[in-house]
This record gives sequence, structure tokens and C-alpha cells, in this order.
Amino acid sequence: MHSRLLGWFVALALITGSAAATVQGAALTQATPAANQEARSQWNYPIGRRGRPFGDGFWVRHGFAVENTWFNPGYWHTGEDWYALKGDTAGANVYAVSDGTVVYAGANYPGRVVIVEHAEALFSMYGHLDPRLAVKVGQRVAAGEQLGTVLKRGDKIPNHLHFELRTFLTTRIVNGSRPRYGFRCGRNCPPGPGYWPIRAPELLTALGWLNPTHVIAGKAAGTAQSRRATTIGHVVVATEPVNATVTVRQAPATNAAAVRGKRRLQLQAGQKFPVLAVHVGATAPSGTSAEAYEVWYKLQVAPGNAGWVQAAVPGTQETGRDGRGSSVRFNFLPAAGQP
Ligand SMILES: [Zn+2]
Repeated sequence: MHSRLLGWFVALALITGSAAATVQGAALTQATPAANQEARSQWNYPIGRRGRPFGDGFWVRHGFAVENTWFNPGYWHTGEDWYALKGDTAGANVYAVSDGTVVYAGANYPGRVVIVEHAEALFSMYGHLDPRLAVKVGQRVAAGEQLGTVLKRGDKIPNHLHFELRTFLTTRIVNGSRPRYGFRCGRNCPPGPGYWPIRAPELLTALGWLNPTHVIAGKAAGTAQSRRATTIGHVVVATEPVNATVTVRQAPATNAAAVRGKRRLQLQAGQKFPVLAVHVGATAPSGTSAEAYEVWYKLQVAPGNAGWVQAAVPGTQETGRDGRGSSVRFNFLPAAGQP
């Protein structure tokens, strides 16, 4: 088959679902021109610096569906808070995670909120933006197009991007005239509350919020183009990886059984590896800590040497009240489409 078609076909296999997804490049043998058109768009992380992979130099200080003890103890976080690893996050560039249309730009969150509608009933939401937005409602945006920059706040909360992926713009229980929980946002408010009570009967995922990193990492790998039919794209080692070395495993899991021998890979910033397969956790996971994050790549480490490495590493730099980790950092980032 035409190798360039491969990545687009992979993307079709990654249509958002609730189950974890593992996609093997070599297993794919069919693609049709019609399928290519549908699954062509790129996906990338929502923040970055020019000339570097999307997400490089940043971390998720409070992940999806974790208890963010700083802001609202006792509430689940509906999105991811992206911070610079070094220095102030204010002024950092915020990018559309995929092609779409701007359907909301406004609010005082604090700062502005932009919401982009993508295909497949997916909405991305970018909060705490500087008022000087780069886009207007109704505007078409491309993957990786700049939407604005992170707000320099005046309150005691450190500057950051609040980012969400969800299946709704507004939904009655969250945003309607009698929202179940209207924190800060009020009635008929597209940005939504940002948090959901722990004691509520619904999980965030039951209401339509998704784990952003799971969705983006899966789709980014799936849409990457490749010259070789056995690879589905490339990743690069982050400029500041979490670990100096990682274990190369025979399966995407942290348990000892997945380790074959004691193979270690030394991480050198910017080093690029072909990806043979990607495994991401469920897009709508039921877990409520950073431990629910799963992003693994099967890398061609060297000729004749392939194995699985962990890309998104749950951490306990921040925790909920029960001590479980709330933060996530990255060892590997998708190489495609630098800002
Ligand atoms: Zn947040």
C-alpha cells in the first residue's frame, strides 16, 4: 500500500471511544481515499513555544479528574492546568489542538475563554487567556493555529492555561438554566464550571468531559505521516524529560512482567524515534487521579530493538487530599507539526 495513506487510516481507528486503544502500525493493510479525507487533520497539545514540539517545556500541574486542592478542595478538575516548567506561564502561546471553528470567545474566567468545535462532536476549551485574542467567533482555525496567550493574572493563583476537551458546548446539567453546579460561571454559560463536586453522582466523563491528553496523544500518533509502512509517526524526547533513563518494556504497563531483561534507554533532549504503535488510556476514564493517565509508545529504539516506553508520567508534585498524584509530565512528545 501507499505508505503515506497509513497514518490517516490509523486515525480512523482512534475515533473517540471509552475503551483504551492500542494501534499497531504494521497491522494495518487497507486504506481508501475517502477515509483519508475524513481523518486528515493534525492533533497537537494546546500550548508551546515556537520551533519546539507542542507541549515541550510545559507540564500538567493539575490533571483531568483530579482533586485540585489549591483551588477547590472537594471538587474534581474538569480539565488540565498547563504550566511552564521554568519561569512564568503568562504570555505562553496557546494553540488550537486541531482544525475547527471558534464557537465561543469571551467570559471573565478570570481571563478570556475560547471554545473550538471540531469534527465528531468534540469541543476544546482554553481558559485564562489574555484579552487580546487572536481569533473571533465564527472563524475557522487550523490545527496548531495560535488562539492567544496565557493571561497574566492579578490574583494569587499562578498564571496557567486551563484546557478541556469535551463532547458538548453546553449541556443542561452543566450549563443550563438550572445547572447542577454553577461555580463562577452562572446560567447558560458555555465555559462551564471548571470543577464538579466529588459528592455528585456523576463522574465528569459521564457528563461529556474527556481526558485531553489521552485524546490528543492517540490522535496525534494516528495522524502522523510516515515513510515506512511499519511506523505511524515519530516522537521526540522532551527538552526537560522527567527521567534521565527509562525502562524499555515488552508491553505498555508499569508492572514488572512487562519488563524484558533490564533494557534502559538514556533520554537525550530532542532525540527523535520512530513510533511503531501507541497505547493511550480510555478517553473517558473512570479514574480520579493522575494515575489514570496512560500514554505509551512502542519505539524503534535501534535496528532490531523495539519496545514500549512511558510518555506521560503521573507525579505527586501535586496531590489530592488523599495523597494520590495530581500532576503529569512528559518524557516524549509527538514530533509532528511544530508551532
Ligand atoms: Zn483548571
